[in-house]
Amino acid sequence: MNNETLLKNLRSIPDFPQKGIMFRDVTTLFKDPECLNIMVDELYEMYKDKGITKIVGIESRGFVISSALAIRLGAGVILCRKPGKLPAETVQESYTKEYGTDTIEIHKDSINENDVILLHDDLLATGGTMKAAYNLVNKFNPKKIYVNFLIELVNENLNGRSIFDEGTDIQTLIQV
Ligand code: IMP
Repeated sequence: MNNETLLKNLRSIPDFPQKGIMFRDVTTLFKDPECLNIMVDELYEMYKDKGITKIVGIESRGFVISSALAIRLGAGVILCRKPGKLPAETVQESYTKEYGTDTIEIHKDSINENDVILLHDDLLATGGTMKAAYNLVNKFNPKKIYVNFLIELVNENLNGRSIFDEGTDIQTLIQV
């Protein structure tokens, strides 16, 4: 029921950023107060009993809900960013994309072994970005890592979930 509201409000832009890509534009969910509430409420219900201590948001659309949800859960927020944006010492992870490689990083002092981490991004496509973030966070040996997306792209060419180890706790609010 709620997710119908999210689906209805999600804008799709053909041929962005390049021809043949149907871009799912979550900014239409962020700007709508009802959608924003639905997303944060649903995520709060999913994770309220998990003992989450920190949410790692993936640059940049992952930052929006990470902070709103962290306030509800009583957790902290960690920024997972492209290289060169974080000011203190970082730990990095590189990953292969369709064309070339990409790198993400977080501050070295951001996670400890007592943390229960929720990794959050707006959208799951191939899963490459989140898998790199997962591997990065895993280097800190936290107690547990949960993975969450607002949107999961599901079609015959894409199965982003499949690149994660079996048993990885992955939740998504809507499948498109
Ligand atoms: P993946 O690594 O292939 O799973 O791609 C996911 C990353 O690319 C996320 O950080 C998304 O923000 C971004 N992304 C890919 N496709 C879309 C889209 O259609 N809408 C919004 N973000 C997208």
